[in-house]
Amino acid sequence: MTPKLGLVCITASKAVRYRTVTRKRLLQFDSLEQERMLRELYADNLRRLGGAIEFCNLNNIRLYRLSSALFPFADDVIGERILAEFEEAMGLVGDRAIQLNIRLVLHPDQFVVLSSDRPDVIDNSIKILKTHARILDFLRLPQSPWALMNIHGGKGDRAERLIRVIQELPDNVRSRLTLENDEYTYSSQDIFAVCQSANVPMLFDAHHHVIHEQVNTYEDPTVAEMLEAARSTWATPEWQVVHISNGAETFSNQRHSDYITAMPSAYRHAPWIEVEARQKELAIKKLQDEWLFTNVNELTPVICEAASPIAQQIDETALAEDSSKLVKQNTLR
Ligand SMILES: [Zn+2]
Repeated sequence: MTPKLGLVCITASKAVRYRTVTRKRLLQFDSLEQERMLRELYADNLRRLGGAIEFCNLNNIRLYRLSSALFPFADDVIGERILAEFEEAMGLVGDRAIQLNIRLVLHPDQFVVLSSDRPDVIDNSIKILKTHARILDFLRLPQSPWALMNIHGGKGDRAERLIRVIQELPDNVRSRLTLENDEYTYSSQDIFAVCQSANVPMLFDAHHHVIHEQVNTYEDPTVAEMLEAARSTWATPEWQVVHISNGAETFSNQRHSDYITAMPSAYRHAPWIEVEARQKELAIKKLQDEWLFTNVNELTPVICEAASPIAQQIDETALAEDSSKLVKQNTLR
């Protein structure tokens, strides 16, 4: 089995980018103009999503993580109404992904916390998840972890609440939900236990794992063990998704590196791997060239391009990614 590699939200080149609008800017206009702006933006971003799917196909990338900022304000009254106008067009885009055999997944932003002590935070998190599920429904994607929505455990020592809240989620959310281990709060073991109780698949992130366990190699036996454990939580094991990233400055640096130069050998048995590297499609290409069809897990280093224009550009456009400042502005109100 050859693992399939996945692209996260945008490209390092300008090929896949999305437009956005801040709440501050939107609120400068009357409601009619707001509607017009959102309608135009949704249409544009949907076209761009179509382009992203074609890009993945051309580059032999079989999984694509949708940006959670694809349809800004889709959970607001106006946005909700405008989004419904695109149901048919979205269905065609989703059909195209299925036709090309490209799996679409989603990683809602980090402010989705189902284990919060604050009921308003939980309510808002559910609202965000429902909006994302509605988007996946409009894209005519299955209500299963094939079209997964991945979140973290959130607040520590609240596993029981997390499990209870998950069990009460609407079907189109719960049936797609996956839970990921994180660096400091929910270890792989912790989230594995939650996944078993809540009956949702576990998404294993090897980089989070080594940071949490303070081990200094992906060859630590617990990496392979937790990969296997995580697979046992998937009703369809061949749908298992994992994440890879490397530390920027050091092995266990939290900040992601530009390229992946260290892969866990265990990941050769991972069916689907989302590549969380700052150079996006270039990092995937490197893995396709140097890792996928070889038995080498330590790849050639790439001389630091931290100061290059492209790296800076990525920093700026990181806001189109999963858990950024912009989403914070938009959702924490
Ligand atoms: Zn991850």
